[in-house]
Amino acid sequence: MLQDKDRIFTNLYGMHERTLAGAQQRGHWDGTAGIIKKGREWIIEQMKASGLRGRGGAGFPTGLKWSFMPKESDGRPAYLVINADESEPGTCKDREIMRHDPHTLIEGALIASFAMNANTCYIYIRGEYIREREALQAAIDEAYDAGLLGKNAAKSGWDFDLFLHHGAGAYICGEETALLESLEGKKGMPRMKPPFPAGAGLYGCPTTVNNVESIAVVPTILRRGPEWFASFGRPNNSGTKLFGISGHVNNPCVVEEAMSITFEELIEKHCGGIRGGWDNLKAVIPGGSSVPCVTGENMRDAVMDFDALREKGSSLGTAAVIVMDKQTDIIKAIWRLSKFYKHESCGQCTPCREGTGWMMRVMDRLMRGEADVEEIDMLWDVTKQVEGHTICALGDAAAWPIQGLIRNFRHEIEDRIQVNKQGKASIAAE
Ligand code: SF4
Repeated sequence: MLQDKDRIFTNLYGMHERTLAGAQQRGHWDGTAGIIKKGREWIIEQMKASGLRGRGGAGFPTGLKWSFMPKESDGRPAYLVINADESEPGTCKDREIMRHDPHTLIEGALIASFAMNANTCYIYIRGEYIREREALQAAIDEAYDAGLLGKNAAKSGWDFDLFLHHGAGAYICGEETALLESLEGKKGMPRMKPPFPAGAGLYGCPTTVNNVESIAVVPTILRRGPEWFASFGRPNNSGTKLFGISGHVNNPCVVEEAMSITFEELIEKHCGGIRGGWDNLKAVIPGGSSVPCVTGENMRDAVMDFDALREKGSSLGTAAVIVMDKQTDIIKAIWRLSKFYKHESCGQCTPCREGTGWMMRVMDRLMRGEADVEEIDMLWDVTKQVEGHTICALGDAAAWPIQGLIRNFRHEIEDRIQVNKQGKASIAAE
């Protein structure tokens, strides 16, 4: 179990002051100018050595992503954009950073922007996060007043402006290029790639989009050293991580833990076990609503990291762990996710626009047992026609939960169809 001395987020639960004075007492904003004076190359190399992989779901190495930004400006400004849209159902970790420990993010934004030659950074926060926005804006104002932002930020010699922008509550704006469109004042519709944002992003300028947690951990990694961060978790899966555990556990929570902790330890130590005991565990969605579910049995020995969960046929995603016990109607649960993705499709590409509606309607009938068994295979085929055939990952996000359901709980879907048919037959016989 991660020890308190190794926690990056020391005020995750809002038990201490979230003000600048409180943050400084806990060690934030310590030697920031000194870190910046070590230079861009040094910062990027340290980040690469730490092994940090993006905490927004895709798990792309953060230091490597930063190195894609142009070393020299061709006259265009460069931007860092922080994705605080956090709309994936089940995911609720970044909000704890923003409302209770906002200075970790602000300090990280300054250092990361400097490393990418960006004098301006935008934080795009989801519209529903009103209190989080207020807390973060208050912290930004405080940082400006203290000279930590603005001209010669934190006496580093680097001029830096940080703007907080709030969205209007569309899930798709969490997709990085839709986010950029929205930030530019247009409809939040994903762009075709290439060009990638590092070449032409916000206002056509070099841009890196990073998740809140990925940026908030940067100052501590640079202060304590990449070896320290890399000492947690298995190789290629290093660091500490915020896990958000919801659903049928005794104490749902958000907690910082070492990567590669086992699922059992995570649930036992922090969540007080499964509701009704381990034998009552039915299924787990380990990384936010878009990743396939895993059966409870298969999840018992799971290791919570990128590579191990891929081997289980799922993904760590945002580490939003949704636990379902045996009282759960899993077909209904996945139907509800289908409804969500259908609602959030931007409608730009046909497989997603038509496929999400089609999948939701079949799921609706499967949930009620009012379908034929052959339709399960038809549904599977449709998920395969959507997956990988769309502009952005929302198509995959809509397909994968259904694939997980069919792969793991096909018998339940078939049983429901049988029961429904028998019920109708006996009513007809009466
Ligand atoms: Fe829009 Fe869906 Fe296409 Fe993404 S996959 S661009 S959400 S229609």
